[in-house]
Amino acid sequence: MSRAQKRRGLLLDLDFWRLGFQGGWLALGLVLAGCRTARIEEPLPSLPPPTPVAAPAIAQCPVVPEPPAETNRITLAPTNEWLLPMWVPWEDWCLTNGLKDLKRVSNGNGTSVELTTPRTRLILSPGNRLAAWNGVGINLGYSPCVQRGQLCVHTVDLHKSLLPLVAELSPVLPEQPVIVIDPGHGGKDPGCFSVLSGRPEKDFTLDWARRIQRRLAAQGLQVHLTRTNDIDLSLPQRAEIAHQLNADLFISLHFNSVYPTYEPAGIETYCLTPKGMPSSLTRDFEDDLTQSYPNNAFDPANLHYAVLLHRSLLNTTGARDRTVKRARFLSVLRPQQRPAILLEGGFLSNPTEARRIADPNYRELLARGVANALWPAKPAIAQSSRLPDKTSAMTPALPPQPAPETPATSPNVMSSPR
Ligand SMILES: [Zn+2]
Repeated sequence: MSRAQKRRGLLLDLDFWRLGFQGGWLALGLVLAGCRTARIEEPLPSLPPPTPVAAPAIAQCPVVPEPPAETNRITLAPTNEWLLPMWVPWEDWCLTNGLKDLKRVSNGNGTSVELTTPRTRLILSPGNRLAAWNGVGINLGYSPCVQRGQLCVHTVDLHKSLLPLVAELSPVLPEQPVIVIDPGHGGKDPGCFSVLSGRPEKDFTLDWARRIQRRLAAQGLQVHLTRTNDIDLSLPQRAEIAHQLNADLFISLHFNSVYPTYEPAGIETYCLTPKGMPSSLTRDFEDDLTQSYPNNAFDPANLHYAVLLHRSLLNTTGARDRTVKRARFLSVLRPQQRPAILLEGGFLSNPTEARRIADPNYRELLARGVANALWPAKPAIAQSSRLPDKTSAMTPALPPQPAPETPATSPNVMSSPR
């Protein structure tokens, strides 16, 4: 491919995404994700030590096989097509697409590259899968690496992580969105338990969901819960409820536990891993990179909702940032034919956090974090006949967040699928 062809291809990348967001996101589907967590009586495996981050000086790009000549191009479709394993010089790509506010920042781990746009501050570091987007940690599929002195990013990350973020075109909920909130667990499945009181996770998720519903309903939004009381509900049933309601968005609510370990704390947010990308964590489940699911058709929107809700929750609660992650074992997300994310609102195995979660005022903050991210516009829908503004409705201006405290190689904190 000639240099001119490559440059044209990079420009087409951004144009394609702009068109896709402007035309395609009007009918948004938000998806709820549910999970089955291990019972507290079953001791969870001890946490593996964090994987050391490779020194940037030796973070050379791995050699990838040469693709067939007829397919030797970057695939642009935001679907489940394979993206060819290529490394793209990040600064060249930014400059080609008119993103010129780049800064190299030296730190103890080498030279990071900081990109600033009117709404985005994105920092990528060599040898580190954790990117910082507006102060929030986002796990990439591959660590950026250095090739001929340039920081390079993998094409899967470029298309599935970086481009959706820097394009700054958020998905837009329709005028009368249907949002399904899924309180995790219920009935015979209690989830995990508070280390202080022994109260089950299923109680806290249901209360959190009700509070979110109240807040969004006050704005005129149609919000449904997959369960409104303490009943058994399988993961397929939760997905089917969203399908029957033709939901625009699905959000599954959970709390974490690593009992009998007490230290881990904070909020983490999940969405389904795009095809071709390694998951942020697998929890001993198979992580087949060639596999795709119906929800992978919403990869960019999944990431948008994940980062928006995650950041909003950190802002309202002040909780520790355990970053936005991708996983394939979240079976409640996989069949969703709409954007879908899963929120972990804190650790019931951490005494300090368990005490906060037990406080109704704190759960109200958790509800406010979700509601503010989804619908920060104050006028009720009934008072407005126009569609919500794309950027102001879905991308609220938020104060900067501190850098995430969790490394990209976060320990597996749960032992069973969701
Ligand atoms: Zn759970």
